[in-house]
Amino acid sequence: MDSQKVSFVETKGNIVKNCPGTKNHICCGYKTIDLIEGCILSCTYCVLKAYINSPYIKINKDIPYILTQINETIDREEYHIPRFGTGELSDSLALDRKYRLNKPLIEFFGEKKKALLELKSKWASIDHLTPYLNPYTVVSFSLSPQRVIDREEKRTSPLYKRLKTARKAQESGCFVGLHFDPVIIYDGFEKDYEYLIEDISRLLDLKKVIWISMGLLRFPPKLLNHFLEEERKNLLYGEFIRGEDGKYRYIKKERIKVYKMLYELVKTKEEELFVYLCMERKDVWKGVTGMAVDDNEALIKLFDRRIKSLYGGTI
Ligand code: SF4
Repeated sequence: MDSQKVSFVETKGNIVKNCPGTKNHICCGYKTIDLIEGCILSCTYCVLKAYINSPYIKINKDIPYILTQINETIDREEYHIPRFGTGELSDSLALDRKYRLNKPLIEFFGEKKKALLELKSKWASIDHLTPYLNPYTVVSFSLSPQRVIDREEKRTSPLYKRLKTARKAQESGCFVGLHFDPVIIYDGFEKDYEYLIEDISRLLDLKKVIWISMGLLRFPPKLLNHFLEEERKNLLYGEFIRGEDGKYRYIKKERIKVYKMLYELVKTKEEELFVYLCMERKDVWKGVTGMAVDDNEALIKLFDRRIKSLYGGTI
């Protein structure tokens, strides 16, 4: 599967960063760990093509150096519970059975007990990690209807395997995160999401789902030509507009309608579930949830509250 070449690079500079966010859209204050840059899974809509210009998948090999940066970032944080993830420039699990990069990070967060590490993936493989998992690691899966996986995520794990693995993570003592991202609109997608949410509530313990994010398909202008190619034509169903950050998104009215449908479907399964929108405007937040989430700080506080409600005084 991993035919793309992997190169281990000398680790220097800032590997741990604040998520860059996007202009006039609300960001959750995530911290990214650029442990791996590049991905073997080749989803059709992947935006990494716009940002990474290398034929190699780069792995930063100096884990102690990275842990020092994470430690300093946690110690600098005075007001919030920091959340870190390795899934921004790659998939957190796709190469892990081979290269075993997550184990020291999982152990570090388990000892520190002041922050959360999120492993975000579409690759259902955690057996090599289960002996080390602890509540300070959140195992997360991006989920789409199987129809979308077959069409756009051909190299990833099927939906049932992702859900089975998420269940295994819950049974190993972790909370899991779920990401409906990207949500792609196509003829009949509403029914497919209804079945997907039904499957989630049947297979997972919803009390151990720490968060669910929702993000409709969006992409930078650099990728427009790529999206216009014949094999990706399914991605451009619907009406798109360029946002204030320059990215293409579905029109606002449509985004609110789709998010609201998903939000209500999820909430009917478990009222307490914490659902957030990834990089959306405050008027969209209001239209979907009825809540006034006016800036990044307001969203970060919602995360703090959610984490405290699940971890009590243990974080
Ligand atoms: S799994 Fe994520 S990072 Fe990897 S190709 Fe798919 S969208 Fe890109």
